[in-house]
Amino acid sequence: MIKKFLIIALLASAISTFAQNKGYELTFNGESNIADAITKARLDTAFIHIYPKFAMADGYRTKRKVELTFANNETEAIKAKAGEIKVNSAWVKGKSQSKIDKELFNALSKNWVSYSKEKHKGYELTFISKDPNLDPAVRKKLIATYFEIYPTLVKTFNDKSTHDVLFVVDTANKAVAEASGNRILFSAAYMKAHPTDIDVVTHETMHIVQGYGYSAGPVWLTEGIADYVRYKYGVDNVGSKWSLPDYNAKQSYKNSYRITARFFAWLEQNVKPGLIATLDRQLRAHQYKEESWAALTGKTVDQLWEDYSKEPQKVSLTYSSKK
Ligand SMILES: [Zn+2]
Repeated sequence: MIKKFLIIALLASAISTFAQNKGYELTFNGESNIADAITKARLDTAFIHIYPKFAMADGYRTKRKVELTFANNETEAIKAKAGEIKVNSAWVKGKSQSKIDKELFNALSKNWVSYSKEKHKGYELTFISKDPNLDPAVRKKLIATYFEIYPTLVKTFNDKSTHDVLFVVDTANKAVAEASGNRILFSAAYMKAHPTDIDVVTHETMHIVQGYGYSAGPVWLTEGIADYVRYKYGVDNVGSKWSLPDYNAKQSYKNSYRITARFFAWLEQNVKPGLIATLDRQLRAHQYKEESWAALTGKTVDQLWEDYSKEPQKVSLTYSSKK
């Protein structure tokens, strides 16, 4: 009876641990019999406390499965990188859980070239660079742009949005940048090639503010809004030579990004000021439908695009500049 109860309890805790850890898994390697059960339990706990957060911050495709080796001849304490932990079993004995946690985090974050946290007026930014060649001036500009633009976007569009954001400059990220949750990954190669393109911060932090979750609306709409916001609120679109492309007959509003953004600027000026902010709210509340366009403007999105195509020049565009 007791045994049965124990098995059920163990199973339940294993399932809940797995659910919490989203595939993060620690395996003890090789001659693990040199360590006792308490040592292993401490390390397992440290792993659960630290590693998923580290991997989230570390960026692209960080290994979720980690092997732990007791390397008593190799290390005095603990060494770690993504996917691999080496530890001296004697070092673990007598250490508090929080000390083990802290040392594991320190060992893992040694692989980051820089790690810093800044806080201004209630907004926080953690900045991690995995690129040893990141230009310090670019780093500074990315951070400054966050504190300049993000509070405005939060106040304008979604005051429930997080005040705690993470930037990671990742050498493994091949795209321009991407946002997920409160984290933005910047491609090290892209930032090196385009050091003036600091309004990538405006576009990407808008994705955090959007926070639509899954299947709230089409991707072209989400991306069109982010680029429209970059156009309207960006801090230096002139400096990066970023602009909205002129209309041509081959375009569609579904082209997304800047083509859609120009259409939105036209709609704001000619059809309904505040339309984009309303659509943004609907998307966040999962109330957006294709019929939303007609309900808000009296015309379908296709009819609106048709109108736009007839007089696309009827919009005055002004771009932000630091000069
Ligand atoms: Zn985007």
